[in-house]
Amino acid sequence: MVTLTPEVGFVLLLAVLPLELPAQDPGAFPPPKMEPPIVTPGKTSADPPSDAIVLFDGKSLAGWRSADGSAAKWQVRDGYMEVAPGTGDIQTAQPFGDCQLHIEWATPAVVRGEGQERGNSGVFLMGHYEIQVLDSYDNKTYFHGQAGSVYKQYAPLVNASRPPGQWQSYDIIFRAPRFDEQGKPIERARVTVLHNGALIQNNVAIFGNTYHDRAAVYTAHAPLEPLRLQDHGNLVRYRNIWIRRL
Ligand code: MG
Repeated sequence: MVTLTPEVGFVLLLAVLPLELPAQDPGAFPPPKMEPPIVTPGKTSADPPSDAIVLFDGKSLAGWRSADGSAAKWQVRDGYMEVAPGTGDIQTAQPFGDCQLHIEWATPAVVRGEGQERGNSGVFLMGHYEIQVLDSYDNKTYFHGQAGSVYKQYAPLVNASRPPGQWQSYDIIFRAPRFDEQGKPIERARVTVLHNGALIQNNVAIFGNTYHDRAAVYTAHAPLEPLRLQDHGNLVRYRNIWIRRL
């Protein structure tokens, strides 16, 4: 004999509830009034659509700065930029928040080092949240530190790495965190990443600033912040970088 306690009653109630969602009332969803603006797509999906801001076209670092605001000191040649080890990270002159970012990168063809010391760089969204760049082709490291990880937070869903020296791409869709007036985070940042066309981060909620030696935590920052690329001492190359504000 089962006694009808509130708990048992709740379980019985669940058992008789219909599983389907109720039909939507079309009246509650009026059609959008604004026509989507026309954007001319690039020649391929790696090329910038007409409303993108080209951050690096292979020729000039004019849109980039060192952390202290001086000119960016990385090397530019043959249509790409390359980390000049020891000169520090570089960041965009313009700040960005919610965005779609396309960026291509290559780790050195001549393989040196192991784990985190092989082809390490990084794409720091808003200067705070790192999508790891690493030679993860036949190179073991901790899973949330390999290429395409949200560093020390989320491993990529798959390892879609190309061999060292080959060009690879990230397509990143990023939603900035929201802070209240006191600087308290009220909405975590979210990121989706495709690596060479394969989905590797599916709308994950970022836990806070990227640190290598302690837990991620949010610190309040402006709604728009520069995009930063990491000098980790390795000769990583970048090209074809464009961004769309969302
Ligand atoms: Mg890195």
